[in-house]
Amino acid sequence: MLQSQKQALRLRRSVLSNLGVLSLLLTCLLASHFGYFVLSHSLVLIFTFVMWIGHGLFVLIIACHVNLRFKDASLTLQQMTWVTLWISVLMANIDGIRPLMMMGYLLVMSFGAFKLSIRGFYGFSFFILACYLFSHFWVYQTRPETLDFYEECFLFLGFGFTLCGFLLMGNEFSTLRQSLNDRHRELKGAVSRIEELAITDELTGLYNRRYLMQVLNQQKALANRSHYQFVVCYIDLDHFKKVNDQYGHAFGDKVLSAFAGLIRSSLREVDVGARLGGEEFVLVLADTQLENALGACKRMANKWRAMHFAEASGLEFSFSAGIVQYTPHESIESTLELADSLLYKAKNNGRDRIEIQ
Ligand code: GH3
Ligand code: MG
Ligand code: MG
Repeated sequence: MLQSQKQALRLRRSVLSNLGVLSLLLTCLLASHFGYFVLSHSLVLIFTFVMWIGHGLFVLIIACHVNLRFKDASLTLQQMTWVTLWISVLMANIDGIRPLMMMGYLLVMSFGAFKLSIRGFYGFSFFILACYLFSHFWVYQTRPETLDFYEECFLFLGFGFTLCGFLLMGNEFSTLRQSLNDRHRELKGAVSRIEELAITDELTGLYNRRYLMQVLNQQKALANRSHYQFVVCYIDLDHFKKVNDQYGHAFGDKVLSAFAGLIRSSLREVDVGARLGGEEFVLVLADTQLENALGACKRMANKWRAMHFAEASGLEFSFSAGIVQYTPHESIESTLELADSLLYKAKNNGRDRIEIQ
């Protein structure tokens, strides 16, 4: 997934949880209106406002991409902790409908399903239980008459069981997420391998005709909108049929691979070498003028002439080439045709030659 898509997802989740928090807070305000809180209505209003704005800050942090500085950019644990703490504060100050706040805890737990690991789920369940007990301890200290021992035991037991249910669900979610991530990684690897295969010549590992045309069109676009220049070299190995006929097809393949190796070692990073098919190759020399391209091609021809194979010691190697500087606004097809016709001229003039425009 792209970083921008991940950010959009984080923002969406954070906004959703913010809306969940808001609905809980509105319920609390209603409860306060009906006198269920031991605090004054304005204090409850301030508490809920601080809680909501505090959570809203997470939304803002994600919207401004500040979250990317954190190890877990989703800030899931931080958001869950913030809301849990405030729910506990509200729980410690509400009477009569205290179990309402348990629903808040469960809402927080469900949010964790998107991100938390199994360990995280266990850890956070203990944290929630601790908060639950602490707020009840506070109630016990300040208003013991509002607590019914058996009722609270039942509620605690029920809450504990529900949390266990959430843990089991969380476990399932976490396993599912893990296997989805694994599959996603495998698929990504397979797609990039397929993409690579689609643009690579199998025998030589150079680029193929498809990728060459993409590169030429990009270079053409650059040259047409600025003073950028590039050169196309059309190369054909001389008397290659003889190599096959005398030493076999497998050796012919070896020679082709060796020539591809020569191309790779001769080109700069910005250049592109492709095999069009058979013993024909095209080089795209980026940001280059004709004279420099001719020099580079001559150096390659010298190296190729010096090529030596132990199993074919008497064999001489050479190639012919046609070199063309791209003329702005010309089509790629006519540039390639021109290079091909120069190559044809080099062949007719006796081979082992380079013809320029
Ligand atoms: P010229 O100097 O005029 O280019 O002569 P040539 O013999 O190089 O050209 P020709 O087109 O007559 O022969 C090309 C040969 O390349 C014929 C074909 O069998 C061989 N060839 C094409 N593709 C492959 C390949 O992938 N592997 C091998 N070993 N040979 C190939
Ligand atoms: Mg040939
Ligand atoms: Mg040929």
